[in-house]
Amino acid sequence: MTYTPRWPPDTPARIRRRAVERALADRLDAALARPAAQQPGWPDPDRVRAVVRRLTAGEPLVAPAETRRLLDRLGAVARGEALLLQSGDCAETFADSTEAHLRGNLGLLRRMALVLTHGAGLPVVTVARAAGQYAKPRSAPVDAHGLPVYRGDIVNSAEATHAARAPDPERMAWAHAHAREAMTVVRRLARGELADAHALHEENRRFVDTAPGGRRYAARSAAIGRGLSFMTGIGAPAPRLGEIWTSHEALLLDHERTLLWIDAEGTEPQLSSGLAHFLWIGERTRQPDGAHLAFAELLANPVGVKIGPGTTPEQAVEYVRRLDPHGVPGRVTLISRMGHDRIRQVLPPIVEKVTASGRQVVWQCDPMHGNSRTAANGYKTRHYDRILDEITGFLEVHRALGTHPGGLHLEATGENVTECVGGARGLAEADLPTRYRTACDPRLNAEQGMELAFAVAELFAA
Ligand code: PEP
Ligand code: MN
Repeated sequence: MTYTPRWPPDTPARIRRRAVERALADRLDAALARPAAQQPGWPDPDRVRAVVRRLTAGEPLVAPAETRRLLDRLGAVARGEALLLQSGDCAETFADSTEAHLRGNLGLLRRMALVLTHGAGLPVVTVARAAGQYAKPRSAPVDAHGLPVYRGDIVNSAEATHAARAPDPERMAWAHAHAREAMTVVRRLARGELADAHALHEENRRFVDTAPGGRRYAARSAAIGRGLSFMTGIGAPAPRLGEIWTSHEALLLDHERTLLWIDAEGTEPQLSSGLAHFLWIGERTRQPDGAHLAFAELLANPVGVKIGPGTTPEQAVEYVRRLDPHGVPGRVTLISRMGHDRIRQVLPPIVEKVTASGRQVVWQCDPMHGNSRTAANGYKTRHYDRILDEITGFLEVHRALGTHPGGLHLEATGENVTECVGGARGLAEADLPTRYRTACDPRLNAEQGMELAFAVAELFAA
C-alpha cells in the first residue's frame, strides 16, 4: 500500500482524520484489487512499486477546491444552463509537450467555444484533453508487425522495435514531469492570451475571411464582432473567458493512484484526484465488476463514462447510480460514441431510462470514436461529414426528448495536420500522408475544427 493521505488546508477540524484515512485506504485497495483491463504487463513489479511510491510523495497538479468548482459548472451543464466543450489530442506525447503545441490545441478549443457560446446562447465550459492524456487503450495486444502494441508514452515508445515497446515504469515519472509543466502552461494561457475574447474573435475572423468555405459563416462572425464592439461601446470590462480545466482517460491505474487528496467537504469523505480536474472511463474499461469503475466511484471529481453502441439503457442507469449515489447534477457525464449511423437508434432509450431514474447527467457527444475507418492507403481516418452527422443526430435525439444536448468531446489540434478527411478544403485520402502526425487516432485540424464549430453553432441556433 503506497497511498499517502493528503488533506487540503481548508479541511474542517471536526474530521477524524485517522479513521477517514484508514477507511479510504481500504476502499482504494479493494477497488484496485478488482480485475483491470488494458494494463501493461510491467516486467518488474518491484520497480513499479518503487516508482509509484516516489510519485505518490510528489505535489498534486490540481486542488480539490478547483475540482469542486468544475463540478459546480458541470451541474449547470446538466441543468441545461451551459455547454461543455472538451477537446485535444487523442494521445499526448512527451515530444509534443511544448508550449507551442499546447497553445495551438487550447487556442482552437477557446475559439470554438466562443462560436458555440454565440450559437447556443449559453456559457461554454472548456475542458482540455491535456496535461496527462498519455495512456491509450488498444484493441489488440500486438500490432500489424507482431510487435507489442504502443500503449501511450506513459507506458512504452511508439518506435517499432521490441526494445522500445517494452513497458517501462520510469515513463510514469516522465509523464508526471511533463504533465506538471503542461499544467503551468495551461494555467498561464487560460488566464492570459486565451482569455481575451477580442483576440480569439480576431483569429476567427481570419478563418472566415481566408479559409475555404469560411465566408459561409460571415454572418455569425460579424454578429459576434458587433456584440464585442457593443460591450466596448457601453464601457463594459474587456470580456474574458473562464477557466480551462484539464482531463484525461483514467486508464493506467498505477498512475491514477498517485497524488490523491482527501476531500471531506461533501456528504462523505472521498478521494480527489490531484492529476486532473475531470477523468473519464473508456469504452474498453467500463466493465461493471472492474477496477476502473470501482476507482471512479471513490472520487470527488466529476467523471465521464464512454458509452459505445453496445451499451444498454440498463447499463447506463447502473453507471449513473453507482457513480452518482447522491444525485449531484453534473457528477456524471455520459459520453456517447455510437457512430453516425447508430446514434439515432441507440441513444434515445438510454436517455429516456437515465432521465426516468431522476439523475441529472451531462450528455456529451463524442462524434470521433464511432466513425473511425481505415483508408485504402492504410491510414486510420475519420470523415468530417460523418462527425457532423453524429452531432446532428445527437441534437435531434435530445430535441425530440426535450433533454439538453450538453456538449461535445473532440479530438482536434490547432496544427495543420492531415488526419481526418473532408471539410471545405476537401482533404482526400491521398492527402493523408502529407502531415499525418498523430500518435494514435486522427484529429481534426484547426480549419476542420473551426468549420465544425460554426456548423454546430448553426444547429444550436436553429
Ligand atoms: C479516446 O477517447 O481516445 C478513446 C480511446 O475513446 P474510447 O474509449 O471511446 O474508444
Ligand atoms: Mn482516441
